[in-house]
Amino acid sequence: MTATSKKTTCPYCGVGCGVNVTIPHSVDDIVPPVSGDLEHPANFGRLCVKGSSLAQTLRSDDRLLTPMVAGQAVSWNEAVETVADKIAQVVKDHGPDAFAFYLSGQILTEDYYVANKLAKGFIGTANVDTNSRLCMASAVVGYKRAFGSDTVPCNYEDLERCDLLIMVGSNAAWTHPILYQRIAAAKKQRPEMKIVVIDPRETATCDIADMHLAIKPGSDAAVFSYLLKCSAQAGILDEGFIANHTNGFDEAFAQAKSSTPTLSSAAAFCGVSEQDLNRLVGWWNDTPKTVTFYSQGVNQSSSGVDKCNAIINCHLATGRIGVEGAGPFSITGQPNAMGGREVGGLANQLAAHMDFATPGAQELVQRFWQAPNMATENGLKAVDLFQAMEEGKVKVVWIMSTNPMVSLPDTAQVRRALEKCELVIVSDCKAHTDTTAMADVLFPATGWSEKDGTVTNSERRISRQRGLLPAPGEAKHDWWAICEVAKSLGFQSAFSYRNVHEIFNEHAALSAFENNGRRDFDIGHFSQMTQEEYDALVPVQWPVPKGRPEGTKRMFEDGRFFTSDGRARFVAISPSLPQHQASPAWPFTLNTGRVRDQWHTMTRTGDAASLAKHTAQPYVEIHPKDAKRLSIEDKSLVRLVSPLGQVLLKAKLSRAVAPDNVFAPIHWTQQFANASVVSNLIPQVVDPLSGQPESKHAQVRLEAV
Ligand code: SF4
Repeated sequence: MTATSKKTTCPYCGVGCGVNVTIPHSVDDIVPPVSGDLEHPANFGRLCVKGSSLAQTLRSDDRLLTPMVAGQAVSWNEAVETVADKIAQVVKDHGPDAFAFYLSGQILTEDYYVANKLAKGFIGTANVDTNSRLCMASAVVGYKRAFGSDTVPCNYEDLERCDLLIMVGSNAAWTHPILYQRIAAAKKQRPEMKIVVIDPRETATCDIADMHLAIKPGSDAAVFSYLLKCSAQAGILDEGFIANHTNGFDEAFAQAKSSTPTLSSAAAFCGVSEQDLNRLVGWWNDTPKTVTFYSQGVNQSSSGVDKCNAIINCHLATGRIGVEGAGPFSITGQPNAMGGREVGGLANQLAAHMDFATPGAQELVQRFWQAPNMATENGLKAVDLFQAMEEGKVKVVWIMSTNPMVSLPDTAQVRRALEKCELVIVSDCKAHTDTTAMADVLFPATGWSEKDGTVTNSERRISRQRGLLPAPGEAKHDWWAICEVAKSLGFQSAFSYRNVHEIFNEHAALSAFENNGRRDFDIGHFSQMTQEEYDALVPVQWPVPKGRPEGTKRMFEDGRFFTSDGRARFVAISPSLPQHQASPAWPFTLNTGRVRDQWHTMTRTGDAASLAKHTAQPYVEIHPKDAKRLSIEDKSLVRLVSPLGQVLLKAKLSRAVAPDNVFAPIHWTQQFANASVVSNLIPQVVDPLSGQPESKHAQVRLEAV
């Protein structure tokens, strides 16, 4: 038998590694081996343990194989008509905002594009939000406030070429393993390269750090306010860059000075020693080639956007942006959170990086789509959306490729919301998840290795996910299901795509439509690709405007930004701590995150037996001093109680967490371990600008069981 090999992209984290999958000609006999793609610029052949185990996840006993309505298997036609009829009815009776999509950073850009187009252009609602809201929404708003666009300036090479890497709120060793490996290799080659980890927890990422700054949870912005203040004292401000390429420095600097006036006040706010903070300041002052790498620890906060801007302020003030080895670099958690952002798959976006507030954008998109029912204002962000469901305002929700019953904060509220809806549609590969259990209609979806399309990784690199195996049962691509419902609603011609290639070309054409020199998200080069060219697409970093097929490695090299005057904006930041602080009744601060070998709610990684070996059970990390005080033994069962609910977890005594702090991973669901859904404990506190939940911070108490 002759096997064939295809290149695709890993479906897990935002590193976006290239994967080779070798396919035997009969899929029933040999599990296809998976290896890293030597030519992919994200990983150059490396794969982490999750990527390496992909072959184990290709066959699941729990695939959803047929459409279901009210628990009964039905034909696709019947399921589509049921959904379309109900959408039409609620839109007629209650208006378009009675319908919503809740999407996922796991679906492909083409899926996102048609969902966004159907809702915003044809049904007439901007209620299109996504689990990416839980991952990177604060970073998006931070970039927009500073640059006038949601544009990641850096690339992965910058992580290897910088002389100082400040990693904030990121356990990249576990969450972005291949980037971590690249950084570790660079550090090994150039031991003089400094790495600082800023994180309340001592994580595996600290193994390569020259210093770990164990800050008080949520105090990150004060570190960067103080760095901004010290940059002036040290004479390292880039006066020319500030004068020629930015606005608002004086206000931001004055605020930094008043917020963090002295070393002792800044150190006290952050809960670190003056000596350590001063050491960071010294390295910052001495090192022009600095990258600040930040992730969910920054974003998942009630002041996440401010934290992002505090970081960006420091880079703008010192001109450490748009040059090799320097910049503020937000790393996305999911494989296609970036692709979703590109098409407008957030409730506060329109399409192709345009917002409702962008002058003329709504009319432009309407012209391009020939849209009959254009949404005119922002829709509801994730947490607000589920609250609107509970209030009976959103009556039909279509959830695609995500498990909000486990991932959203306050899962009891999510349950009440879905119970209140008149119709819950869930598109998923799996038959049994905590969310499929809430569905009135189930659409069987194709998954990784069956789906075909594109994703974009954290460095703006668009890569192909390629269909390798036939869809099982009656599973269909998400874009196809959306188009069938759209056609059933009467929008035949706008949704008559025959394949993903046609969708991608349209998406590219929209990015360049009447562009008039808008330069942020433009991939117009791809708007007339042939099927063969699309099939052969090699990974490329956007923008890819007409005439620049090689794409764009680094942004802002010319010092021009996407604001109306081309200047970046400083933002005056007052550092603040999380909303809910410890109290006698709730003496512990709960931090949440991931373990090394699981992904999200384990719907795929849970199928790989080898991945369960690293961490077999849910747990809570407790400092030994606290455990002793509460008579909690290592590996004993502990009850975590918050004002919202309680969970049972195994105690793991560890000095990685500070006293009065605990940490619990997010992955386990009711399917895997009863009473261990940690999101049950997290309040629906969000950043007021980004709507991103403060999932890193909840107040709890511990009880020995
Ligand atoms: Fe997949 Fe992320 Fe691992 Fe790369 S680092 S193989 S994208 S999980």
